[in-house]
Amino acid sequence: MIIDLHAHSDASDGTDRPAELVRKAAAAGVGVLAITDHDTTGGWAEAAASRPPELCLIRGSEFSTQVLGGGWSASIHLLGYLFDPDDPAISTEQARLKQERRRRGLAIVQRMVDDGLPITAEQVLGIAGNAPVGRPHIGRALVASGVVSSVDEAFASLLAGRAKYYVPKVDTELVSAIRMISAAGGASVIAHPRGRGERRVLSSELVGRLTAEGLTGLEVDHPDHDPAERAELREMAARYGLLTTGSSDYHGHNKQLRLGQESTGADVLAALIDRTSGVTAPLGSPDLVR
Ligand code: AMP
Ligand code: ZN
Repeated sequence: MIIDLHAHSDASDGTDRPAELVRKAAAAGVGVLAITDHDTTGGWAEAAASRPPELCLIRGSEFSTQVLGGGWSASIHLLGYLFDPDDPAISTEQARLKQERRRRGLAIVQRMVDDGLPITAEQVLGIAGNAPVGRPHIGRALVASGVVSSVDEAFASLLAGRAKYYVPKVDTELVSAIRMISAAGGASVIAHPRGRGERRVLSSELVGRLTAEGLTGLEVDHPDHDPAERAELREMAARYGLLTTGSSDYHGHNKQLRLGQESTGADVLAALIDRTSGVTAPLGSPDLVR
């Protein structure tokens, strides 16, 4: 069975409506899908209401976190699963991040406008709708205005971290995010720990300390990881007794990834569910995963 534990809808920076996402997942043969929009669980109600009966759904979110060092800050994405979505600490932090993403998105747009690029704040806010604003929304505006021909091209140039338009955002500190998810009854998994320059900061020693703070697992099988990185992460997970998951990180047509492209073992999913308090259960047949 295909178990895909990382997918985005248009409640964040994916392009499929939640209803469309669950329909496509079932059509792709996915048996269990986690909805993990950035900094929100806003897509859940629609996804749950439209769930095809053969698809088991897991409520989650991808938390934007940072590790702070002396004079530097590194971005780490943390997947939270089956936590209480009404937990006050999580709701408050997600509301703050939504504001912070709006501030930062508009600051990036302003830099582009000041430089003569033909996009507007209204256009980007219109594309984002109710979703927390992300660089992919700005990328789509740049495509619509003919500045670049694809969101990928925008990320390789104007939206890159080294570009002159880049503005950072203040994310949740990584250890507090792990603790927050545990306190809300959920399980936490570091997303693509070797995907985007995380190697600099996510040493084996740090992962050991995060495990002691309650980290549940590492997303080992991710499209951005090559075989050597997967082997290294599997070894690190074994060292600390962490679970190893696999997922597509599907974003609709913002990125060229297929739902179910990577998968998590049924035994791993069962262990992950065992690590949660039960405050939020998978939606759909539980014997699918036992
Ligand atoms: P932000 O969260 O606003 O900093 O934007 C980063 C997000 O953009 C990442 O978490 C990915 O979901 C997405 N992303 C990164 N690279 C690309 C790309 N080449 N095309 C589309 N989306 C991307
Ligand atoms: Zn993601």
